[in-house]
Amino acid sequence: MSQLGNLEAGSRHDLRVGISPDAPDEGQFKDEPNGAFGYVHSYETASRYDGPGLRVVLFVSGCLLRCSYCHNPDTWHLKDGTYISASQVIERLGTFANALRALDGGLTISGGEPLVQTAFTRRILAGAKQLGLHTAIETSGYLGDRADDDYLSALDLVLLDIKSSDPETYRSVTGRDLAPTLRFAERLAAIGKPVWVRFTLVPGFTDDPDNVDGIARLVAPMKNVKWVEVQPFHQLGEFKWKSMKLDYKHVNTPTPTPDLVARVIEQFRAAGCHSR
Ligand code: SF4
Repeated sequence: MSQLGNLEAGSRHDLRVGISPDAPDEGQFKDEPNGAFGYVHSYETASRYDGPGLRVVLFVSGCLLRCSYCHNPDTWHLKDGTYISASQVIERLGTFANALRALDGGLTISGGEPLVQTAFTRRILAGAKQLGLHTAIETSGYLGDRADDDYLSALDLVLLDIKSSDPETYRSVTGRDLAPTLRFAERLAAIGKPVWVRFTLVPGFTDDPDNVDGIARLVAPMKNVKWVEVQPFHQLGEFKWKSMKLDYKHVNTPTPTPDLVARVIEQFRAAGCHSR
């Protein structure tokens, strides 16, 4: 059992490693049945980017993907997170609730992958709902099957990262299969759950016009998809890869030019998506 720590405010750009060395492996992790405790990287209090209005963003630990351009590899392992109680998170969230409601915002759980710790995040989402907050998760969708109907009913929005429409490209950039993400996207469409699709534009890796068109064709008919957000690759995570002695493939990958970003947004718009 990991030692209970404190919930620390911070930023997705803070490096946090080795905080709970006896935590289970995220690949073997069987979520604790009642989700009373879990592993968290940090939280931010003033995001205007991760959902509508002003957001508190909780970064939870654990992810089964290994995106080559991930800017938060210190969220991959539960052992790098702080072990805390869900009630501690909800209590802290409560101190921001008035401001979040007044600014049409809410809670976004990101990571890492919120669906690695399904019981823990379910409990936090329920607490946020009791506070009258808008709720969202950011997910790759790879573990979408773990989100049952009850879990989805506590969500007002899903930020769904679709990293590629091509199974081979998806595997080469994430190390995992694309199919579960597509299955989750279709399920969300079938129940009309609001979604913002997020696409990370990595020159030389995901910018192929056919790859972009494939995602556009997939999501354009989905009426629940409110936005397709193009997220330009950046190098802000490079220092984490180096500090963690991980093999970083993108030392020489440039950030996308404004022209490339405009081309990709236009591809989505031409297919009928709202894109920005
Ligand atoms: S899904 Fe997100 S947290 Fe997981 S490896 Fe990819 S970018 Fe990183």
